[in-house]
Amino acid sequence: MRKDGVFIAVEVDDSVASDAALAAKLAEVCPVDIFAAGDGGVQIVEKNLDECVLCRLCLDAAVGWGSDTPVKVLKLYDDGAVLT
Ligand code: SF4
Repeated sequence: MRKDGVFIAVEVDDSVASDAALAAKLAEVCPVDIFAAGDGGVQIVEKNLDECVLCRLCLDAAVGWGSDTPVKVLKLYDDGAVLT
């Protein structure tokens, strides 16, 4: 699942996107509410995407879930560079 803002895009690997526990964790850590926990698992709140402060808390929170990079933050203003 991927959602794009103007400056920032966020991608959540489909293998973990429906996980309620991960959804709750992401919703808890992101300081600008880019993630929400819904019935179907992780939701990306599109209207908040460009508020991302590149804090990496979501990347840390997702370590150990599914793939090596279950959550990606893409800097669209920098040719889509992945926040590491
Ligand atoms: S890097 Fe920080 S502000 Fe950006 S989506 Fe992740 S937790 Fe939210």
